Amino acid sequence: MNTPHIKTATNQPIHIGVLGFGGLGQAAARVLAPKQEMLCVAAADQKGYAYNRQGLNADQCMATYKTHGSLGYLESGGVLSHSSIEELIGVADTVDGYFLALPNLPNTFMANVAKQFIAKGWRGVLVDAIKRTSAVEQLFGLKDELQAAGITYMTGCGATPGLLTAAAALAAQSYAEIHTVKITFGVGIANWEAYRATIREDIGHLPEYNVEQAKAMTDAEVEALLEKTNGLLKLENMEHADDIMLELAGICDRDRVTVGGIVDTRNAKKPLSTNVQVTGRTFEGKISTHTFTLGDETSMAANVCGPAFGYLKAGVELHRKGIYGLFTAAEIMPKFVR
Ligand code: NAD
Repeated sequence: MNTPHIKTATNQPIHIGVLGFGGLGQAAARVLAPKQEMLCVAAADQKGYAYNRQGLNADQCMATYKTHGSLGYLESGGVLSHSSIEELIGVADTVDGYFLALPNLPNTFMANVAKQFIAKGWRGVLVDAIKRTSAVEQLFGLKDELQAAGITYMTGCGATPGLLTAAAALAAQSYAEIHTVKITFGVGIANWEAYRATIREDIGHLPEYNVEQAKAMTDAEVEALLEKTNGLLKLENMEHADDIMLELAGICDRDRVTVGGIVDTRNAKKPLSTNVQVTGRTFEGKISTHTFTLGDETSMAANVCGPAFGYLKAGVELHRKGIYGLFTAAEIMPKFVR
């Protein structure tokens, strides 16, 4: 079924939809609220959605979600639905681009959402902050279909993958050969329930767990695990798409890229400074390391949502030029959203 898609004129703010209204989705609405160039008009969670062409009020959305558990209860524009994404795609005919702030549980979830957009005949820009290499590979499998559908899909556009992968791509320019890219992240969140999907997916990276086990864990089981580790998750050699993104961008083989970090689920202060170290050999034969370190005061939400909308803006520019298909954070420069 083809959805009539009314493109907003270029001098109008870009109309944004946010799919998933948990930790990152709510932060996304707050990030967008003061922007001139973007307007959040649509949002969905598991039990409902809200759409308002004049724009959704971030505070009202957050208050409704907190009190009633779904945006479907929003007084103006809220609709309860068990297939909120599908319904919203059909109804929201002014949305230029969606940020997919959804859990990728199971690991095929995001690719299936992309297929829903294709099946509905929707045209526009999609941005995700997906993490696993195997999840990005599934999206690469859809590249031709996305292109034929008139969708510009920007994948791996959060913090890592995302901001740090892009920083690595930039840092690589000083070298004739890249030896290693080492990403180390520190995340501090005051309570895990604000970011359930992020924490479950991180548990799926622990050596004794996989994605299916992490998805099946009850909240009580997650709490019991965090109780044992004093609220800390220590992650090493993660399956993170930074590797495939840097390989596809022609920077280095994926086995030269490593990602690990520490998540503190009981403290908003970062347990360590998030950084990427890019080691290589210059044309003169010198071995050196560039380090890009994020400010400790910046939250995970700031470092994910900022880049996601920067890449969404870049995606809109590509889309307006008729350039569709799949792109990663390592090959496109994000645009700053005013
Ligand atoms: P969350 O658990 O806080 O919220 C998930 C939201 O998605 C909820 O509102 C839920 O209702 C909604 N949802 C779930 N299933 C749905 C469905 N079928 N239809 C519609 N809505 C649905 O999630 P979060 O912690 O904000 O994480 C979101 C994603 O962001 C995760 O996949 C996480 O891995 C990713 N992430 C990426 C980075 C990065 O740097 N790349 C960093 C942090 C998080």
